[in-house]
Amino acid sequence: MPQEFRSVREAPAEGKRVLVRADLNVPLADGEITDDTRIRAALPTIQLLIKEDAKIVLVSHLGRPESRGELSMRPVRDRLARHLSVPVHLASGVVGDVVEAEAEALEPGQVLLLENSRWEEGETENDPELAVGLARLADMYVNDAFGAAHRAHATTEGVAHLLPSFAGLLLERELSELTALRDDPEQPLVVVLGGSKVSDKIGVLDRFLEVADKVLIGGAMCFAFFQARGVGTGDSLLAEEDVPLAERLLEKAERSKCELRLPTDLVIGDSFSAGAERKEIDGIEVPDGWMGLDVGPQTATNYAEAIAGAGSVLWNGPMGAFEMEPFAAGTRAVAEAVAKAPGRTVVGGGDSAAALVAFGLDQEVDWLSTGGGASLELLEGKELPGVVALAHDGENERRDDA
Ligand code: ADP
Ligand code: MG
Repeated sequence: MPQEFRSVREAPAEGKRVLVRADLNVPLADGEITDDTRIRAALPTIQLLIKEDAKIVLVSHLGRPESRGELSMRPVRDRLARHLSVPVHLASGVVGDVVEAEAEALEPGQVLLLENSRWEEGETENDPELAVGLARLADMYVNDAFGAAHRAHATTEGVAHLLPSFAGLLLERELSELTALRDDPEQPLVVVLGGSKVSDKIGVLDRFLEVADKVLIGGAMCFAFFQARGVGTGDSLLAEEDVPLAERLLEKAERSKCELRLPTDLVIGDSFSAGAERKEIDGIEVPDGWMGLDVGPQTATNYAEAIAGAGSVLWNGPMGAFEMEPFAAGTRAVAEAVAKAPGRTVVGGGDSAAALVAFGLDQEVDWLSTGGGASLELLEGKELPGVVALAHDGENERRDDA
């Protein structure tokens, strides 16, 4: 992946208008922000630009594409204003004459937050006209939205071709942490993968079965592997299309030096609820009427030992339905082992991050990635369009000289 992009630290931003793409897509419930991790992660780049007396035009998407036209950035503005000591104005839209006037009215050190980029249909289509409208708002562009860098949208990709472009501090750090783990990990490398579906993580599984020392599987994902081996999985969460994928991965593991480990015991419940009847089984055969909801204590201990012996650890995906306390022990054991591990520890995935936060361990890992899909794509070796577009290409050079 070309990484000859320039850092925001090198941007001649003083007195200039800088369009900053951040990932401020925070979870909301009844209009209230329930977790502002992403806003906090975006602060260092904004603060750096405030210190440089830049005029900051900030943009992000919020919510799913279907909710376009409904969700306003107002709650994000309010939270940003609480974290920053400068005025944060909310724009009347994303692009257009009025927004241009709002951007022109900015004083050095002030912030204008554009409305939800998904208000514009052209955002997800990477419409060149929208990119032009965005480029009119600023003199230069900084992309700090690592969590959106795997999408070629107008605010993450299109506009980067029209302005001198720089990488934000968060994006830079994400890239250096994740590429180091991908390309040059401290050995032995132990990869712990869980969560709901094999198909979500097949690329990463495929890659790490070639290069890791051990891949440890937990979460609902393990049932595709058990099914592929002909083991009864009862009513466990299982995506049929995952079974052939698991079968292929099992065959690949046979030929690989990497050790693929699956749970050897399970915690099962008679329904998907915190009040379910709960049983620990010494084995992996799930009876009909029951579902596997966590890895068992023997598996948890075994995985924790592997993590303790690792030079580097990548963890993505919870070991069970950890949101329900009776089924949280396996995920907690892995989280604690990762927190204590002497090796370099990197955690990715929204729910794994939420688990770390819930256990109060989020400060105890070396790097907690803010990008779910983006971190998986980077780790499996794909190029991220939002990063490629920042490459220090001729276009940027010419514009600098002009
Ligand atoms: P991440 O966001 O960390 O990548 P995923 O989104 O892949 O993780 O999966 C997280 C979800 O998987 C959690 O909501 C968790 O409840 C669920 N899950 C994990 N194990 C099980 C299981 N055995 N049965 C049902 N759901 C599970
Ligand atoms: Mg998730």
